[in-house]
Formats: sequence, C-alpha cells, structure tokens
Amino acid sequence: MNNTKQKTAIIIGAGPAGLTAAYELLIKTDIKPIIYEASGDIGGISKTVNYKGNRIDIGGHRFFSKSDRVMRWWQNILPIQNQEENNPDKTDKIMLIRNRVSRIFFLRKFFDYPLSLNFNTLKNLGAFKIFQIFFSYTRTRLFPIKKEKSLEDFFINRFGEKLYLTFFKDYTEKLWGVPPRLIKPEWGAQRIKGLSISKAISHALKNLRPRTKNIEQKKTETSLIEKFLYPKYGPGQMWEEVARLIKEKGGEIHLHHEVYGLKIGQNKIVEIIARNKKNGGINNQKGDYFFSTMPVKNLIRAFEENIHPQVRKVAEGLIYRDFITVGLLLKKLKIANRSGKLADNWIYVQERDVKVGRIQIFNNWSPYLVSDENTVWLGLEYFCNEGDQFWNKSDAELKQATVEELLKMGFIDRSDVLDGCVIRMPKTYPAYFGTYDQFHVIRNFVDQFENLFLIGRNGMHKYNNQDHSMLTAMIAVENIINKIADKDNIWSVNAEQEYHEENV
Ligand SMILES: Cc1cc2nc3c(=O)[nH]c(=O)nc-3n(C[C@H](O)[C@H](O)[C@H](O)COP(=O)(O)OP(=O)(O)OC[C@H]3O[C@@H](n4cnc5c(N)ncnc54)[C@H](O)[C@@H]3O)c2cc1C
Repeated sequence: MNNTKQKTAIIIGAGPAGLTAAYELLIKTDIKPIIYEASGDIGGISKTVNYKGNRIDIGGHRFFSKSDRVMRWWQNILPIQNQEENNPDKTDKIMLIRNRVSRIFFLRKFFDYPLSLNFNTLKNLGAFKIFQIFFSYTRTRLFPIKKEKSLEDFFINRFGEKLYLTFFKDYTEKLWGVPPRLIKPEWGAQRIKGLSISKAISHALKNLRPRTKNIEQKKTETSLIEKFLYPKYGPGQMWEEVARLIKEKGGEIHLHHEVYGLKIGQNKIVEIIARNKKNGGINNQKGDYFFSTMPVKNLIRAFEENIHPQVRKVAEGLIYRDFITVGLLLKKLKIANRSGKLADNWIYVQERDVKVGRIQIFNNWSPYLVSDENTVWLGLEYFCNEGDQFWNKSDAELKQATVEELLKMGFIDRSDVLDGCVIRMPKTYPAYFGTYDQFHVIRNFVDQFENLFLIGRNGMHKYNNQDHSMLTAMIAVENIINKIADKDNIWSVNAEQEYHEENV
C-alpha cells in the first residue's frame, strides 16, 4: 500500500494563468490542484458574459502567440476549424481563424490602424499636417531624446512629436487617466514592442504580397498581427473547457471563494484562508505549493504575520485602471455600408469630446456571439477608476451615456437601439506608475517563499496577455518538477528584450 500523502497545490484565481497551472500539474505531476475563485465565473478577464444569448468578450481577446508551445496548447483544447471539411455551424468545440480589422476614429473620420501613409490618411489629415508630421519625425530621428524617462519620450522617439500629439497622447490619457509624461516607458515597450514608423512602412510594403492563410506570425510585431484564432463562443469557451478537463482529471475548483489570508511557516506558505462569498463560511486550506493570480496589492494585504512595512507600503501604492463595457444591441449602424454593418473587430476612438475608448463589434469576432444575425452587437469600452463618478453611475445612466456618445459621433439612430447591459471589471490594467518603480521590494519579499509562485497578469503586476500569463504558469510548474528554486525564469516572461518568445 502506498502511504505517501498526495501533494496539493492551492491556486488562487480561475483565470487563464490559474487554470493553466492546474491543467499542467494534472498532466505532468501527481500534485492535486485546488482552485479558489472569488467570482462565480471561469476565465477571469478572459471570460465571456452571456447576456440574453448575446455574448460579450471583455476587451476583445485575440488568441495569438509567438510561442509555439502556447499555440499548440490552445489547439489541443479547441482545434482550429478545418475550413474545407468542417461545418462550423455543426461543430461547437473549435477555434475560428479571424482576420484582424481595426481602425481609428478621429476627426469624425476613419484612419487605418496601425496608421499607414496612404491616400486615405493623406485625405483625412491634409497635406500640411502630413508635412508637419514628417518634419517632426525626421527631427526626432536626427536628435532623439537620449534617455527615455517616460512613455511620452518613448512615443516621441519612435513617431516624432507631432504624430504623438495627434494620435497617441489623448488616447493614452483616456486609457490611464494620467498624462503619458507620468507613465514609465516600460509600458510602451511591452504594449507596442518593436513598433516604429519604419517597421510599419516595411510591414505595409510586405502586405502588398498576396496574403497567406498561415496563422503563424512569429516575426510580426504584436501590434500588427493580422490573423488570430478565436473560440467559436468567445474566450470564455476556451477556459470553461479547460475547467471541465481539470475537474474530469481530478482537480477541484471552488467558485465564490475569496482568498483573504495567508499563513507563513519556515520560508514557506503553509495555508490560505478563503471566505465563501455565498454563505460567509471560512475555509482554511493547507497546501504544499501556492500559485497566486490575485492582484499583488491584495496578496500582500493577505499576509497575516508582521512583514516589513516597506513591502506593505509599496504594495499599497500599486495602481490599477478599471474597465466598463456597455453591451449595446442595435438594429443597424448608421455609419456603415448599405448592410448596416462595419467590417472592424474594434475601433479606437480618439475623439476628444467623448469618453468611450474603443468600440467592439462582436459580430466580427465571431458571428456565433450574436443571437440574431440581423442585429449589431457592440461593446463600448470605458477606462475609469473603481469608485469614481463614472464607475458609480447606475447601469441605466451608463447605457444612456453610451447611446448619447454614439449619437454624437453619428454612429447610430436612436430608434435602432434594442437593448443593452453593463459589465464592470475592476483591475484590468496594472499600472506602471505609482510605486511600480519600487516593485523589486515586493519581488524580493515574495521570492523568499520557495513554494509560492506569483503568475499571470495582476498576479505579477505585469501587462501580460493570455499567452504570457499561461507561460508563467507553465514555467512555474516546470520549476517544481525540475526542483528549480530561482524564480527569475518566471519573472522574465514578457520582460527581457531578448525574450520575444521566438525561442520558446
Ligand atoms: C481590455 C483587455 C484586452 C485584452 N486583450 C487580450 C488579447 O487580445 N489577447 C490576449 O491574449 N490577452 C488579452 N488581454 C489580457 C488577458 O485578459 C489577461 O492576460 C488574462 O486574463 C490574465 O489571466 P490571469 O489568470 O493572470 O488573470 P485574470 O484573468 O485577472 O484572472 C484572475 C482571477 O483571479 C480571481 N481572483 C482575484 N482575487 C482573488 C482572490 N482574493 N481570491 C480568489 N480569486 C481571486 C479573479 O476573480 C479572476 O477570475 C486583455 C486584457 C484586457 C484588460
């Protein structure tokens, strides 16, 4: 008889990172994963919300990665639709291959995204402004800002001051609620990676060649990815399927359980404390390994013992930006071709007189997100702070404000509005300002616990996409298997210049 007790891993959060960690543990080790999830949903920010048969993707989640490993992982869960043989109407558990179409709405006109120097841009901006942009770009190439101290410097060095002021400054401020000169340049490095005017132009030239059907785009800058995979029923479908497999393979998932306490032993975490949000019950759960995807600020608050006040101070100073999506069902769009539809997946709204930041057209992500194909299903995205005036508006007020903004921009007729819903999502963007420049204090503190792994997006306070979040989970599991105590390889994902996943 085998008397060895099965080891357990306690995982905080059932988003992509937590679920990947659990799945990897189940297929590669004997360790049993037990997930505690505060909400009633699977998928975290990558969940899909079903409103009366119309599905909302919070933020619009493209499935693409420069990591083959992640691409294979996704396809192992939901294979790619076989366009020749498969009928997507009949097969539910698949991913579709979608073309990326997104444009910028500015000066009540549409511009290509990424911006390209074509006839449309010339017509929209006028020759004089184009000349100013070109002049300012040339000046920056000759005399770049030597040491980039802020996101503003980062943008100016790559695009010139005029283009920055025209297209980047206001949108960035809309997103973060603070001017780009107060934001660290790292955000630009991760968000738009190697994108620059010269790369955008050479990319545009390459595009003159015939398009391939290939989904691999390893050498393409992240902001330019043109095709992506997308689960038939939205990103949540991927994560619900993973959750089903986890349970099938013997893992546990406890929804409505918020972790609020952490107990320390000798260089180790020994126990978490979770509150059942439905009945108020308290669960103390011991474990051998602990994976956290909860926001770092909340994780540090959860430490019960006396910890260094500087660690608490830095954690309390971490800042997040929050997010509201207003789903709006319409008979048609006014600003569209005769069919009443647009081809875009999403539209960046640069206009200064409205608060909306992006408009998602869910019909174009997957037609299966929309219950009646004759309707248009939009997601109006607002960046705000939890508890601010906008966040605290009632749902009815938010829907009303959304309709008024769309009317103002000429997108819709009032009589075409059929229905709407509101989704509030806190802590969608971990900010690279506040105390972020002292984040090493937190890292040094958490890394001393050999069985604690911070993974994911808010879990590491890093601007990680799903693939990065998943890779951090995969590497953490490998470190357990290979008995690697150093956590550098986890923190390196989506951070080091040389790490662009080409080699993974
Ligand atoms: C607007 C927007 C657009 C995006 N677009 C893309 C895209 O196109 N492609 C892409 O790949 N990625 C995209 N992302 C990123 C993607 O959403 C994240 O990388 C991913 O969801 C992070 O996974 P995670 O598991 O680390 O965290 P999360 O998704 O945040 O999940 C964490 C989970 O932990 C739970 N939790 C928190 N605190 C506790 C607690 N105390 N106790 C228990 N549970 C807790 C939360 O409820 C949540 O379910 C986008 C993100 C945003 C905001």
